[in-house]
Amino acid sequence: MTECIFCKIADGTIPSAKVYEDDNVLAFMDIMPTTKGHVLLIPKVHRENIYEFSEEEAANLFSVAPKIANALKAEFEPAGMNLLNNTGSAASQSVYHFHLHFIPRYDRQTDGF
Ligand code: 5GP
Ligand code: ZN
Repeated sequence: MTECIFCKIADGTIPSAKVYEDDNVLAFMDIMPTTKGHVLLIPKVHRENIYEFSEEEAANLFSVAPKIANALKAEFEPAGMNLLNNTGSAASQSVYHFHLHFIPRYDRQTDGF
């Protein structure tokens, strides 16, 4: 049994608000969103960080990024967007299953909420 929370989200053991899914990746809403529309994109297979990816796995994940960014842009009309990954505790990684953050940016006073 995996103890990885994002593996459990990927296999459906833990529920999530899914926004995109295919055979290789899953995107879902962040449970504690930094701004309105904060999404996480993960590989379904457990990879702790970018160092562990094959080129094919990276291609599968990053090829989905424009679709997700455009969907967030259309839905929330942010002023900008951060795509971000934290690798290692020194970089503030807190969940050790790779995830790419999509953080729409708005007026800093409201963060879109
Ligand atoms: P990190 O600091 O590792 O880059 O980001 C981890 C992210 O995962 C945080 O933004 C946090 O809110 C999110 N997160 C942690 N646990 C859960 C969970 O159980 N469900 C969802 N949807 N997001 C989570
Ligand atoms: Zn995992």
